[in-house]
Amino acid sequence: MPDENAMTGGELNEPISMRDFTERLPGVVFQFHRDHHGHMHFPYLAGSGTGLPGIDRDALSQDARHMLDRLDEEDYPRVMAAIERSARWRIPIATKFRIRLSSQRCCWVALRAQPEDATTGVLWYGLMIDITEQMAEEARLRRLSDTDDLTGLANRRRLMTRLDEEIARSNRHGSPLSLMLIDLDHFKRINDTWGHLQGDQVLAEFATICQQLLREEDVVGRLGGEEFAVILPLTPLVASRPLAERLRRAIAEHNFGIDAGQVTASIGLAEYRLGEPRDTLIDRADRSLYAAKHQGRNRVVSR
Ligand code: GH3
Ligand code: MG
Ligand code: MG
Repeated sequence: MPDENAMTGGELNEPISMRDFTERLPGVVFQFHRDHHGHMHFPYLAGSGTGLPGIDRDALSQDARHMLDRLDEEDYPRVMAAIERSARWRIPIATKFRIRLSSQRCCWVALRAQPEDATTGVLWYGLMIDITEQMAEEARLRRLSDTDDLTGLANRRRLMTRLDEEIARSNRHGSPLSLMLIDLDHFKRINDTWGHLQGDQVLAEFATICQQLLREEDVVGRLGGEEFAVILPLTPLVASRPLAERLRRAIAEHNFGIDAGQVTASIGLAEYRLGEPRDTLIDRADRSLYAAKHQGRNRVVSR
């Protein structure tokens, strides 16, 4: 009968102890215990991941709070809820969270654990892996899929998601919300006269002007072509109208490197009415925009 604690160690084919084996794992394997009074600790913790600052094996073997206290504030309630659910229903935990390493740095950790009954409480067997790099890559891809290439602004998809979020917030708190639709005037003429590349340049500069003029919490995005939208949270029409007017003037006065007065924009504004669907709000702003075009362009119309 082979020794249960002995495993095969690499190409040398020499036995390797279970402990040496776990210490070489690129992560952490652990037992996590919660007693009937709620006290939590890690009876067993091994793996190269324990070398991470913040995972102190000796301290954690006494009290899991040494680690839980370093969880990111946003993640803490979620992790505690996952532990609670897992303990109550004896279902596995699968979660991820950030651990603060210093005031500036944190790492992302993925955790999987399986609970078991123990006479003293609940005992989990699990693993933790550092997933900081994957999370950074995911964030990069998300940014890419949310961003318009030419202008760097939010794309239509991102705009619609943000608009849904702001509408939900407005309905929850009864807070005001305005939507601005912007369409550059006679843009076809600009392309025809100065070329498509110059047209692209105008679009990019237009985006910069919007970002400079609007507030941090406003969401500017490109709906497509030469059409843009701005979501103005916590802003009633009386406040968004002068803002739209300032933006309109800034565009008309900006030197885009082509003949003065060639680039202007028409702006349609609408304030959200509590309870109305998103598309109704967009439709009202669109009708304002249409009216601005109809009344001669380079103007703001609200309703
Ligand atoms: P209006 O004042 O009525 O809005 O006139 P317009 O010419 O701006 O309107 P129209 O919708 O007829 O034309 C929009 C033009 O915008 C046509 C299209 O070639 C141009 N356009 C759309 N997307 C881009 C782009 O990414 N780059 C450039 N350079 N032009 C674009
Ligand atoms: Mg258009
Ligand atoms: Mg246009």
